[in-house]
Amino acid sequence: MLILLKKDASRIEIENVKSHVLQLGFTPHEIPGVQRVAIGITGNKAKVSPDNFLSLSGVVDVVSVSKPFKLVSRDFKPDKTIVNVGGVEFGGEEIQIIAGPCSVESREQILEIAELVKESGAKLLRGGAFKPRSSPYAFQGLKLEGLEYLKEAAEKTGLKVVTEVKDTETLSAVAEYSDLLQIGARNMYNFSLLEKIGEMKKPVLLKRGFSSTIEELLMAAEYILARGNYNVILCERGIRTFETYTRNTLDLNAVPLIKKLSHLPIIVDPSHGTGAWDLVPPMAQAAVAAGADGLILEVHTHPEKAFSDGYQSLSPKTYLSMIEKIRKLELVLERTNEVLA
Ligand code: PEP
Ligand code: MN
Repeated sequence: MLILLKKDASRIEIENVKSHVLQLGFTPHEIPGVQRVAIGITGNKAKVSPDNFLSLSGVVDVVSVSKPFKLVSRDFKPDKTIVNVGGVEFGGEEIQIIAGPCSVESREQILEIAELVKESGAKLLRGGAFKPRSSPYAFQGLKLEGLEYLKEAAEKTGLKVVTEVKDTETLSAVAEYSDLLQIGARNMYNFSLLEKIGEMKKPVLLKRGFSSTIEELLMAAEYILARGNYNVILCERGIRTFETYTRNTLDLNAVPLIKKLSHLPIIVDPSHGTGAWDLVPPMAQAAVAAGADGLILEVHTHPEKAFSDGYQSLSPKTYLSMIEKIRKLELVLERTNEVLA
């Protein structure tokens, strides 16, 4: 349920509505907006009567939201959310590029790739240090040592760090070293992790699980927002289908659909979405044309020697020429991010 207040509602009126919500045993969420002041209610198991609020000073309307996701929905917040990652904005006019290797493999490797990422004009460096691998025998990441190298690379280049958080045990360490916490496809349903991250203010990159629906992705984001962290960026990274020529099927429908359903920024990962380096440039362009707010890309100075995901990693040459094309495409697109009426 959503309580709408007049545009110029006073702080006293807003606080009064919030305390009424609390008295009824529910949770109020003040939703910032340009056009209106709104307070969302969560925690209600049954329908709450609008009469509880309609007579309060400043309240103009009470609307019920039938979708299972509330705080992430456009119904709750019509204005798009801009997530600020250490000064880099996701969801604004600029398409943000996150690039780097699948895994941090050594100090030299990440420093070299960070220089390349910097040269391309991208502002964020990716690299896994704690890797949740499908096989227990596969490279599991350099862990804390990897985080140290990422930090050094970021300090040298001025890039922001994006790295995956594998579990609640390592969350505080990973949060300390990163600007944007990545929740991987395998962890989209890790509700304890989502809740813990919801209690932080740190920006989050939430990837879609390989077998999850768009609604399930939005519900996972709802876990984070419900605990107070609104800094969530969604990521389409491909889903499992019957197709075997590609690692995943990149569901680009998700981009305009999520923009319609949610105010959160959405980026695309064509590296995991295709699983093949030569399919990455065309699908990256398609993602940007579909309205993606950014891309996350795997790039490696020696893809053939990569410890993980080498086959889908771009070589420096392909990466740089691809970014050039993306920037040209960005110029011809009118990125107003408006949802079609
Ligand atoms: C990754 O980004 O390297 C990764 C493991 O991605 P996903 O969680 O989408 O599989
Ligand atoms: Mn990878």
